[in-house]
Amino acid sequence: AVSVRGLNKAYGDLEVLRGIDLTVHPGEVVCLIGPSGSGKSTLLRCLNLLEEPQSGDITVSGFDVTDPDIDVDAMRRNVGMVFQQFNLFPHLTVLENCTVSQVKVLKRSNAEAEQTAMTNLERVGLVEKAQQRPGQLSGGQQQRVAIARALSMNPDLMLFDEPTSALDPETVGDVLAIMRTLANEGMTMLVVTHEMSFARDVADRVVFMDGGVVVEEGPAREVIGSPKHERTRSFLSRVL
Ligand code: ATP
Ligand code: MG
Repeated sequence: AVSVRGLNKAYGDLEVLRGIDLTVHPGEVVCLIGPSGSGKSTLLRCLNLLEEPQSGDITVSGFDVTDPDIDVDAMRRNVGMVFQQFNLFPHLTVLENCTVSQVKVLKRSNAEAEQTAMTNLERVGLVEKAQQRPGQLSGGQQQRVAIARALSMNPDLMLFDEPTSALDPETVGDVLAIMRTLANEGMTMLVVTHEMSFARDVADRVVFMDGGVVVEEGPAREVIGSPKHERTRSFLSRVL
């Protein structure tokens, strides 16, 4: 579902990604971990062209992302993204948040969009909040709406960038539980997270980045349980 080869990204003189290789196979869950500033968000943002890389090859859902003639909208339709800040539309209801892109981008009828939205609100346990506005919900509930909204586009890949980092501790578990269910259902997921127990239990593979390079990757239990590199060990000793 995702293939990255030799990805380089710089902001002016600052080289943020230096020769990244990364693969996410269909149905796989990959967690991306690493210290602040290591380039995790930048990597995710390069995958759907929220950032333009300097060089490298990126394929996402069959789209050659670095092809200048890429149909960016068509590519993004296949990729759901969930951010640390939920980015919901505050003036729209929960239901409308989940239908607006279906109607505008996928050209679904209102009825079909609402049906799809309600199915996904049910998946995240928020059917009863459909007519409320985001401001009336807790942070964890808002993030679950953001997940339902992304799922309503029927993506074949979900990108998560620290989806629980802005949440109150008591709501983190609800969001992680939904992500765990999604993973069990076979969704392809690339997840930037500091939740090491989630990474260890749910990820098929864990990728540890530091200073814009992939330092170590492998099965979740190996990378988190018995890391090979000193940089991985010292990072884990600080976050575990
Ligand atoms: P965190 O865990 O704190 O979210 P991260 O691994 O996601 O960190 P990035 O956000 O990818 O790190 O940032 C990597 C580096 O790129 C940092 O040094 C950051 O300051 C820099 N950077 C990110 N975005 C920009 C930008 N738009 N302009 C200039 N520098 C940027
Ligand atoms: Mg980040």
